[in-house]
Amino acid sequence: MTTGFTEPAKKHLGQNFLHEKGVIAKIVQAIDPQPGDVLVEIGPGQGALTFPLLERHGELTAIEFDRDLHAPLQAAARAHGTLHLIAGDVLGVDFSALAAHAGDARGQIRLVGNLPYNLSSPILFHALEHAGAIRDMHFMLQKEVVERMAAAPGSKVYGRLSVMLQAYCTVTPLFTVPPGAFRPAPKVDSAVVHLVPKPASAIAVRDHAAFADVVRAAFGQRRKTLRNALSGSATPEQITAAGLRPDARAEQIAVAGFVRLANLVAARGG
Ligand code: SAM
Repeated sequence: MTTGFTEPAKKHLGQNFLHEKGVIAKIVQAIDPQPGDVLVEIGPGQGALTFPLLERHGELTAIEFDRDLHAPLQAAARAHGTLHLIAGDVLGVDFSALAAHAGDARGQIRLVGNLPYNLSSPILFHALEHAGAIRDMHFMLQKEVVERMAAAPGSKVYGRLSVMLQAYCTVTPLFTVPPGAFRPAPKVDSAVVHLVPKPASAIAVRDHAAFADVVRAAFGQRRKTLRNALSGSATPEQITAAGLRPDARAEQIAVAGFVRLANLVAARGG
C-alpha cells in the first residue's frame, strides 16, 4: 500500500485494511460529504478511506489507537488535505465535546469508519450515548452484525443490538463487501451500514437507563417468556399494561413495545 507504513497488520487491533478501489469509491459516494460537514473517521489505519475523503472534502478528523500508524498517516495525509489526528482509543473520545467544539453549523459531526470488528458493539453503544451530537454514521462491520442491527421482530437475529439501535436511529444496510477487499482478508463477509440518529422529539424512550435494563434482561434469556426473563425488572401487570403478553418471548416484541414497557417501569419507580 502507501509507502511509509512498514508495520504488519495487528490482529488484536482488528486491522483489516481496505484495498479494493471500487469498494472505497462506493463508501465515499455513500458518505457524499457536503461543504460544511465535519467528518470524523474511526480507525483510519493506513488511510484507505481517509485519503480519498480528504481529496474530496479537504479536511477531516480521525481517531487512531495504533501509535505506529500516527507518523506515517500524518506524513502521507499532507498530499491529500488537512488531517486532524486524535491519538488514542475511540471509546475515550467524547463525541459531544468534539461536536460542540468543532462540529458543523448544527453542532454535529458525521462519523465514518471501517471499524475494528472486535470493538464494533462497544463503539456502536458509545456512539448512541452521543447520538445528539452525531448527524449520521457510515460504518463497515461484519455482515452478520449489520444483519442483527437491522433485524425485525420474529427474526432469529433480532436482539438487544437491533432494539437499542432502532430505538434511537434509522438503520439502513447499504451493501455487502467480500473478504478479498481487505488485507489481510477477514474470515467473514462485511457490510456497510448507514445510521441516522432520530431527532430528540422522535425518540419515545423517557428513561434511557430503564430502557437499556429492560432490553438487556429480556434478551439475556431469550428462550424464556417475558414474565420470567423480566422477573427482576417488570411485573406481569406492567407487561400487560404495556400491551404485551407475559408469555411472549423477547424476539417477538417490536421496538415500540419495549419502549412502552420501559416507560411504564420508569414511571412507577422501576
Ligand atoms: N480505515 C482503515 C481501512 O479501511 O483500511 C483501517 C480499518 S481497520 C478494520 C480498523 C482500524 O481501527 C485500525 O487502524 C486499528 O488500528 C484501529 N483501531 C483499533 N482499535 C481502536 C480503538 N480502540 N480506537 C481507535 N482506533 C482503533
